[in-house]
Amino acid sequence: MKCLILAPFHFDALARLRQLGEVVYESWLDTGQLTDPEELGARLAAEAFDVLITEADFIFEETLAAAPGLQFIGVCRGDVGQHVDMDAAAERGVIVVNTPGRNAVAVAELAIGLMLSLARKIPAAHTQIRAGQWQSAVDNLTKWQGIELYGRTVGLIGYGAIGRAVAKRLLAFEMNVLVYDPYIQPEALNLPPEIHLVALDDLLHQSDFVSLHCPLNEETSGLIGARELALMKPTAYLINTARAALVDEAALLAALREKHLAGAGLDVHLIEPLPPNSPWLQLDSVVLTPHIGGATGDVIRHHSEMIVAEIERWANAVNVT
Ligand code: NAD
Repeated sequence: MKCLILAPFHFDALARLRQLGEVVYESWLDTGQLTDPEELGARLAAEAFDVLITEADFIFEETLAAAPGLQFIGVCRGDVGQHVDMDAAAERGVIVVNTPGRNAVAVAELAIGLMLSLARKIPAAHTQIRAGQWQSAVDNLTKWQGIELYGRTVGLIGYGAIGRAVAKRLLAFEMNVLVYDPYIQPEALNLPPEIHLVALDDLLHQSDFVSLHCPLNEETSGLIGARELALMKPTAYLINTARAALVDEAALLAALREKHLAGAGLDVHLIEPLPPNSPWLQLDSVVLTPHIGGATGDVIRHHSEMIVAEIERWANAVNVT
């Protein structure tokens, strides 16, 4: 086996791969760039790679056509279809494996971090204390008065890998968990009795925190608009660690400015990086992070272990035939 790795990869997994053959490791984290799909095909052929591991590179028909020796592609992400031409891979008998759920815990923990940050005003309190403005005990219970997650209701829109990881953790906070996901079958998922499947409007109406965990597509683009925001309690918070375009940005800005909503925690943004004049930077009721939902070293370890396990299975199968 000769393997080219363009994704960040854990050193334990690298060592396991090196037991199977030659490994060339050029993570985009080190090179700072993605490959050109055509150049990649030519290189795979010229250097006789039969295994490719990527994260964000695009593998088009032409890439595969240029690399007839390629047999196996490991993609360190869940949504493979946008990056790899799956039909072309199937036609050429190239095995493609992905790593669904690799970042579920990381994103879930960030979503809960944003909830706690909003509930207890942690970022603003931190900034103030760093500025040397420690306030009196009276101020602590007025300006910094927060709320507990305990006993409150969270509404999760989307109950896939991330939604489920959030639900599991928030049950330990003793929250009431509502879920809207039109595509799940509760029986198949063995839905715990504490989790209630509801209609979207009911979820918006009843929740103290609404957290988005569904994919962005034609159906979900603008899912949360002015009408949906108006259904939410004025004391409620919206958390978005999924995709910015799920929410009508102008409607959310208006709802926050007019205090129809208590606040928002946003990891994803329509324009990334946020421009210096972005209105989001002016709102005290918003906690922002720079699209770091999946940015943990553990995610790299998870996807590395998942891909290596698949390659070991494949290599063993190849050896016995
Ligand atoms: P997943 O595919 O496991 O789950 C998505 C769930 O959404 C599925 O259960 C599906 O049935 C549900 N869904 C589909 N259409 C829906 C709709 N109209 N209304 C409600 N639910 C709907 O995906 P996941 O791994 O849980 O990821 C969820 C999203 O999180 C991804 O699509 C991605 O956009 C985002 N994400 C963000 C980061 C980050 O860095 N912030 C990292 C990873 C994923």
